[in-house]
Amino acid sequence: MATCLKKRCTKCKEEKPLSEFSIRRNREGIPCWRLGSCQSCVRIRSNLRNKEYRQRHLLRLQAKSRNRRAEIKKSVQRFPNKSKKCSVCGRTKFHREFAKDTATLSGYSHRCLKCKRKAAKAYRNTRRGRRLKNLASRRFYVNHLEEKKAYAKRYHVTHKDKHRKQLRSWRRRHPIKYRRQFQRARDLLYPSYVRMCINNCFEHEFGRRLQTSQIPDSLVRVVAENIKLKRTIGKICQTS
Ligand SMILES: [Zn+2]
Ligand SMILES: [Zn+2]
Repeated sequence: MATCLKKRCTKCKEEKPLSEFSIRRNREGIPCWRLGSCQSCVRIRSNLRNKEYRQRHLLRLQAKSRNRRAEIKKSVQRFPNKSKKCSVCGRTKFHREFAKDTATLSGYSHRCLKCKRKAAKAYRNTRRGRRLKNLASRRFYVNHLEEKKAYAKRYHVTHKDKHRKQLRSWRRRHPIKYRRQFQRARDLLYPSYVRMCINNCFEHEFGRRLQTSQIPDSLVRVVAENIKLKRTIGKICQTS
């Protein structure tokens, strides 16, 4: 039975699980059969086809877009007063108050910027919109992690006082969030938390605080291990 759950791709000749092959449905929408080639092979082939199509019809496609642009230009010139009626709020507004849209004949979107923004905001508030937004921002974060870190570091160096002020005001505005963040840093022993502990100790001993760069990473690691050890000992003492 287990062998039935796998299928050999006709293209790359590899044996893959059935979920790798897309399902084809009949007219009634009932799944009937699966494609012979796996999804990655299908993707490669379709990408290749698209590329070939573009290369073969490059001139034609360029001419098409050129014609389209000319058409739009002409139709824009047709509006002597350069104004347009919004199909959502119904107000007549200047062209500059509409977003440019090559899909329409006029070259401008059918709704004004204000209505467009309102619609986008409403969409972002729906469940799907929120999910897409979160996904996009997470993808961006993952793809640009190093850049973001470098930027944050640069920003901190050049705007030290401003950054501190911002952080302080954020903490004041969001006490619950800040406490949760702090608890997380304490529980998971973030380097920032360990550095703070070291600095508190130093202040207690010598009456002044160190700069973050003055505390070496090796010390942070050792202290973190120590704290972990102390915590485990404390847990054992509590239970016994
Ligand atoms: Zn394949
Ligand atoms: Zn409008």
